[in-house]
Parts: sequence; C-alpha cells; structure tokens
Amino acid sequence: GVPERAEGIRAGSDAFLPKPVNSDAIQETLQNFKSANQEVPARILAMEDDDMQNALLKNILEGAGFIFDSCTEPEELLDMLDSFNPDLLIMDLKLPRYNGFELARVLRQNNCYLTMPILFLTSSSQEASYIESLKAGSDDFLAKPANPQILIDSIRYRTKRYLQIRALTDQDGLTHMLNRASLMRQFESIFSRTARYREALSITMIDIDHFKTINDTYGHQAGDWVLRSLSNFLQEALRKSDIIGRYGGEEFILLLPQIGAEDSLRVVDRIRQDFERGEKASPTGEIIPVTFSAGIATYPGHGSSLDEIIFAANGALYESKRTGRNKVSLAKNGGE
Ligand code: GH3
Ligand code: MG
Ligand code: MG
Ligand code: MG
Repeated sequence: GVPERAEGIRAGSDAFLPKPVNSDAIQETLQNFKSANQEVPARILAMEDDDMQNALLKNILEGAGFIFDSCTEPEELLDMLDSFNPDLLIMDLKLPRYNGFELARVLRQNNCYLTMPILFLTSSSQEASYIESLKAGSDDFLAKPANPQILIDSIRYRTKRYLQIRALTDQDGLTHMLNRASLMRQFESIFSRTARYREALSITMIDIDHFKTINDTYGHQAGDWVLRSLSNFLQEALRKSDIIGRYGGEEFILLLPQIGAEDSLRVVDRIRQDFERGEKASPTGEIIPVTFSAGIATYPGHGSSLDEIIFAANGALYESKRTGRNKVSLAKNGGE
C-alpha cells in the first residue's frame, strides 16, 4: 500500500517489493534497475563554428561529466549526429552558409531527431527572437557567454528527461529490450556506417522452439518468464557492441558488427548450446525445457541492403526449423 511505499522512499529505497516476494517480481525489478540505473554520461554535441567557443564548452561540459564533441561545418552535421549519437545538441545561431534555425528545421524533419533536445546558444548581439527559436524546434535558448552553472543545469535536466522518455518509448515492456521500431532505427544507422566503411556485419534471427507448446503446457506466465530468461541470457552472452532486441512475439534479432559468416555461426551456436544446457527452473519451480533455432546472414555476402540480409537470415531460420530445430543455420549463397 501507499504508506509502506512512502516509508520505503523516505528510507531511500529505489524499489518496493510486496511480500511474499516471487522471483518473477525480483527479475522484473532487477531489469528495471539495469535499464534505469545505467548512469552512462550524456553525450553533448555542439554545432558551433567558433573554435574558442568549442574549447570553452568542452572545458565546462567535460568538467561536469558529459561526453562532448563539436561539429564546425554545417554540412557535416548529419554525419556527425549519426556517428556521435548525442543526447542533446547545442546549436549556434550564426554559422557559415546556414543559420541555426534552418539546421534545426532540417533535423526536426527526420524522425530520428524529432525529440532530441536542441539548445540554442547565441551571442546577445545576434539577439534572435525566442519565438523564432521555438518555431524551429528549439527546447531552450541561452545567451553567450552562458553562465556555466546554468548551462550545465539546463543540459543535465534536459538530457535526463530525454533519456528517461527514450528508455520507455524504445523498450519492449516484457523483456526491456529494444522494441522493433527503435531496433530498426539503430540497425539502419549502423548499417549505413558499415556500408560506407565497407565493413562486415551479421544478422541473426532467433525463434524459440515449440513455444506454443510451452505456453499450453506451463501457462502463459511461464511463457513470459521463458521470454525474459532468454532475453537476459542473450544480453549476458553478447558483447557491448552487439545489438539485440525483441523482433516479435518469441523472436529475437541480433546484430553483430564486424564479423563474418563462420565466426557468427560459431558465436551463435555456442550461445544456443549454453542456453540449452542452462538452468531452466521457472518461478514456480518447474523445469521448463526450452531451446531456440537461429538463422544467420551476413553483409555483404548475403545481400546489399538491411532488408535483404534480414530476409536471408529468416530463410536460414526457416531452414533450422525445417531440419529439426535447436540448431543454427547459415544463409545460402555467399557469406564472408
Ligand atoms: P516453432 O518451433 O515452429 O517456432 O513453433 P512455435 O510454437 O514456437 O511457433 P508459433 O509461431 O506457432 O507460436 C508462437 C507462440 O508464441 C504463439 C504465441 O501465443 C506465443 N507468444 C507470442 N508472444 C508471446 C508473449 O509475449 N508471451 C507468451 N507467453 N507467449 C507469446
Ligand atoms: Mg557562429
Ligand atoms: Mg515464431
Ligand atoms: Mg517459435
């Protein structure tokens, strides 16, 4: 009830579990912690052509614990956003060939940058209208030279809110993994970089075997638990640079950067074996035997677009299912 929760909060607790505690609730709470408490420093990009100003910003913001980088050429902004992936953009108003309002409007037309906070920083001599900046999609407006503490506080507040909202909208509610929409956005951005630098990557489609039977035999809640276990298991098993998300009901998708067909096959098949052997006791104490099948396709061997690679990985997954399940297959034609 409310009184106990209020007590917990006063005592400084971050979560409250009603007794009797079940392991499902613990699992859920720990997962929430994992996503909310990963205090990674926010990334700040400045679109600013003045090197002195950039050096000053760098000094102030890195001193406050942010990760900072700057872009001095408006033409490079989109590439820079793509590679640096900032949580907030500081926008100068007076830039070579463009002004900050124009650039902000361009960004707001792109769904990826629709909600990213933009903070206009401009010298008072440029005295642009506040309304104009709002119309261009600005979230805040500070005059140069900005008071460092006000700058830090407004950035801290806006990035924190932005990251909280993004964590909710990007997550799948059951597994707390990236949902399909945010996953595909991230895949597109990585894929375009991979293609530009002619690197390799692999895509793996994973599908739990006979999941309908698991639901039918142990109940839907146990099925949900299996989904969360596999999701935890995959997150533990992969590297930080690997991206993983829930693609559909009992389907997961992995993107492994800079890896060819044979290496991917080794990695994923090892994960499959480890998962098959792993501890399978559900919260109710039942041992639920569960395995998955997977299909792998690689860039550039199995296609030249992300859609083609995913399609090929799906074909390979189907092959794993067709030939007995609990196995990993490589897409045909190509690889490496
Ligand atoms: P196969 O080995 O061929 O993949 O067989 P399957 O039974 O796993 O595949 P099928 O596509 O027939 O069934 C998938 C089932 O997954 C059906 C659906 O009810 C269940 N499912 C999808 N999403 C969820 C979920 O969020 N929770 C639970 N418990 N079940 C889900
Ligand atoms: Mg300027
Ligand atoms: Mg399926
Ligand atoms: Mg299945």
